[in-house]
Amino acid sequence: KENNTRENNVAKIKVVVRKRPLNKKEIARKEDDIVTVSDNALTVHEPKLKVDLTAYVEKHEFCFDAVLDQHVSNDEVYRVTVEPIIPFIFQRTKATCFAYGQTGSGKTFTMQPLPLRAVEDLVRLLHQPVYRNQRFKLWLSFFEIYGGKLFDLLSDRKKLCMREDGRQQVCIVGLQEFEVSDVQIVKEYIEKGNAARSTGSTGANEESSRSHAILQLAVKKHSEVKDSRRNNDGNESKNGKLVGKISFIDLAGSERGADTTDNDRQTRIEGAEINKSLLALKECIRALDNDQIHIPFRGSKLTEVLRDSFVGNSRTVMISCISPNAGSCEHTLNTLRYADRVK
Ligand code: ADP
Ligand code: MG
Repeated sequence: KENNTRENNVAKIKVVVRKRPLNKKEIARKEDDIVTVSDNALTVHEPKLKVDLTAYVEKHEFCFDAVLDQHVSNDEVYRVTVEPIIPFIFQRTKATCFAYGQTGSGKTFTMQPLPLRAVEDLVRLLHQPVYRNQRFKLWLSFFEIYGGKLFDLLSDRKKLCMREDGRQQVCIVGLQEFEVSDVQIVKEYIEKGNAARSTGSTGANEESSRSHAILQLAVKKHSEVKDSRRNNDGNESKNGKLVGKISFIDLAGSERGADTTDNDRQTRIEGAEINKSLLALKECIRALDNDQIHIPFRGSKLTEVLRDSFVGNSRTVMISCISPNAGSCEHTLNTLRYADRVK
């Protein structure tokens, strides 16, 4: 009974918007901050010109589960988004937390600290009397989807492939999982993984903005009798039974989905893939929200990989990141419309 009550209090799908502050460049260019926040609503003041070239402002208003302005700390972001779903991970829930938005809007800034805080809380729960004797362990993996292909960010970008068993469980063949029990080691894995993200020849943020990075924390229950197979593949984690997990997904820059008319063929292919995956993601979340039986996860690699997080017990948090400057107005409106349609 108590569980049910708790479950009802934490929405299956939560859409949160986070606005970053103006950066130094934008301030130097004297760009206006065109986004105002009040409670869970926000207004975009779009600068426009009439045909006679007189300036006016068109207002666009939106409402979400929560709107976090430029003064909100990462700790507060955690409290609003991930903290409430942590206890469910011990109750067979698969949770996902997405960061969506244009490149430079704060996705990585927002996403990076979240798994650290989550590990802190998960480890604390693991040690509580109810769970202490259950042989639960926490496992971490970190991979990337780039151009529709999977790469392990914690083992030299080894190419991975995906397999489904008959019970809607997704298995990423060869993905390394590491047992984690303290925050410091998680920090190191995150840094290592982020350094391994696609950087192309330029080494700039440029390329990583074309990939989805997926960090997963899985709670598994391990049997008392050690499985002999353990020594063969050296991966004890495979022998644990999944209890629940949470995936942190730093999505490709939403503006990249529009790179479909670029002169460069590779860029066009990647753009088409990103566009497809972000559309498929939106459709899957909407289907979840409507309790639809059929979830259109086959639409893209991203949604296929997340298939098991769209069925059964699930919790989804979408953090839409927006830039406040006038120059980003169009991208900001696109991001907010996307977030609006997810809900
Ligand atoms: P993205 O991953 O969406 O491309 P980043 O997370 O790399 O964007 O953020 C772009 C820049 O803005 C970084 O230098 C980051 O430190 C800064 N930034 C983003 N969000 C915030 C914020 N809420 N407060 C302060 N700085 C931020
Ligand atoms: Mg980033």
